[in-house]
Amino acid sequence: MKSNLNLKQNNLLTLEEVAKECINCEKCPLYLTRTKVVPGEGNEKARVMFIGEGPGEEEDLEGRPFVGKAGQLLTKILKSVEIKREEVFITNMVKCRPPGNRNPSVSEVETCFPYLEAQIAIINPKILVTLGNVPTQFLLETKQGITKLRGEWYDWMGKIRIFPMFHPSYLLRNEGNFPGSPKELTWKDIKKLKEALIQF
Ligand code: SF4
Repeated sequence: MKSNLNLKQNNLLTLEEVAKECINCEKCPLYLTRTKVVPGEGNEKARVMFIGEGPGEEEDLEGRPFVGKAGQLLTKILKSVEIKREEVFITNMVKCRPPGNRNPSVSEVETCFPYLEAQIAIINPKILVTLGNVPTQFLLETKQGITKLRGEWYDWMGKIRIFPMFHPSYLLRNEGNFPGSPKELTWKDIKKLKEALIQF
């Protein structure tokens, strides 16, 4: 994955322009099965962007990211450390729903990446929180899993830090709260993120 966050290359200068391009996009096969495109939403001056894998069923119907059960959990996780959804920007690696909630393929992620790249360049955040394996492995160019990578800081493009966390849908499938559980580790991670935001 090569990126220089080149806005002119993408020729997209505002979040609205990115969203409009996504809505008309037929660059990968996911356009065939989508109901609505989900470009992402939030604060255009956000210091932190949350990046998931792809829209789910409810997101596909509403055209908004993280509005289903996993999204509600994400909102709750943010709220637990007094971060409001309106303060951050929330999006996904692919802007159209992969059928049956499968993971997007590498080719789909690569094809859709210029939209995310443009969003990052426009927002210019300090931190990208990658939720789950798909965004974490793609952006960090690694095959290591989220369990190993989560909760640590990684430099990206020289000026942005990546902070991987478990995807909220994984937490919904692993609800136990005991030392070392995904839930307990996520609680530690979100506190670590909050502390970093306070320091900026
Ligand atoms: S997932 Fe991305 S590249 Fe594929 S059709 Fe949707 S907007 Fe276009």
